[in-house]
Amino acid sequence: MVTVGAVKELFPEEVRVAIIPETARYLKKKGFNIVIEKGYGERSYIEDRQYAEEGVEIVNSRKEVFEKSDIVVYVRGPGSSKEVEESDLPILTEGKIILGLLDPLGNIDTMKKLAEKKITALSFELVPRITRAQNVDALSSMASIAGYRAVIEAAKLCSKIFPMLMTAAGTIRPAKVFVIGAGVAGLQAMAFSKKLGAIVEGYDIRPETKEEVQSVGAKFVELGLETQEARAEGGYAKAMGEEFYKKQRELLKKHVKSADVVITTAMVLGKKAPILITEDMVKEMNPGSVIVDIAAEKGGNCELTQPGKLIDYNGVKILGLVNPASVYPAHSSYLYSRNVMNFLSLLISKDGNLIINFEDEIIRDSTVTYNGQIVSPIVKKTLNGTK
Ligand code: NAD
Repeated sequence: MVTVGAVKELFPEEVRVAIIPETARYLKKKGFNIVIEKGYGERSYIEDRQYAEEGVEIVNSRKEVFEKSDIVVYVRGPGSSKEVEESDLPILTEGKIILGLLDPLGNIDTMKKLAEKKITALSFELVPRITRAQNVDALSSMASIAGYRAVIEAAKLCSKIFPMLMTAAGTIRPAKVFVIGAGVAGLQAMAFSKKLGAIVEGYDIRPETKEEVQSVGAKFVELGLETQEARAEGGYAKAMGEEFYKKQRELLKKHVKSADVVITTAMVLGKKAPILITEDMVKEMNPGSVIVDIAAEKGGNCELTQPGKLIDYNGVKILGLVNPASVYPAHSSYLYSRNVMNFLSLLISKDGNLIINFEDEIIRDSTVTYNGQIVSPIVKKTLNGTK
């Protein structure tokens, strides 16, 4: 029988879990055995008793979980933070499989260490963007929650309310929200701002996003930049040169200036987020307006963003969101644990044996290390580029 283990998350302030009682029940039916560390679900408001009712074994230490498991599932695994790496690398032994958000492109040294230890590392960040992979795409499910959270934070910080309000005292005009980046998080931020009654504009470097922006009720901002080349494989944007970004900032200026809320989500896989809002652009914004930077963990789209901090620059509030999905443990854990459950289903054969099938594109692309080697082409490419 294949045993799946889960230990308490060590990433600072992480509250999500990778297995909830409901997904444990499904996994048990599929033929998995499950073992967790005592108190595993506490931060997601799930008691040990609820796991025990689903037949999950509860043990006292993470080392014991690792010893009993074939596969360890994380939210934030080794690679995501030094806390996880320092605790778990010494006690994860040869032959174990780990699955989670491992930040393989941001922390290649940890991936090398995992390879040296002959640990098979499977990373949600590398799941291919294909239709069949949608139910294992944890980045997308978490990005949807991030988009929602950005709007909630912005609505709290902005000096204006979002909807139009007609009162006897006078009429309030709706706030103006400008969302930069129309990926999963950006589109969700546009849709939710619209629901709250704001006037919403959206922009993305990939021209094909125009229809998606319009479909959520936002106005697509055309900058007139030549961006046919901006599309990379898998729906991601390409990193452009500094000359391009300079021109882009120049053209974005008036849209940023006239917005009450700017939500930035622009990211490029494996690279630092592009700077799209400079200090000079913030100086031109109205006091009382807000920037919520979802790209903060990747360096931020605003030059002044400080990851994890709220700053006030001449009355303009700038919030650098870190781990944005982690403040809604119930729903984030629900979605994430379903992504985990679906991924694990790909690792078990009909007769209950563990399989790592490299003919399956999802497994092939998501595998960072195998048999003592880094096997992911994209991680190898990044590794060669950093040497
Ligand atoms: P992401 O988080 O990598 O980036 C967010 C957005 O920032 C992207 O839309 C990108 O084009 C944009 N961006 C990058 N540089 C920019 C710049 N200089 N100016 C403006 N915008 C910039 O992207 P994501 O949310 O993961 O999604 C990207 C695309 O992939 C979307 O179209 C999404 O629907 C698609 N997708 C498909 C699947 C699937 O088919 N399984 C899964 C996930 C995402």
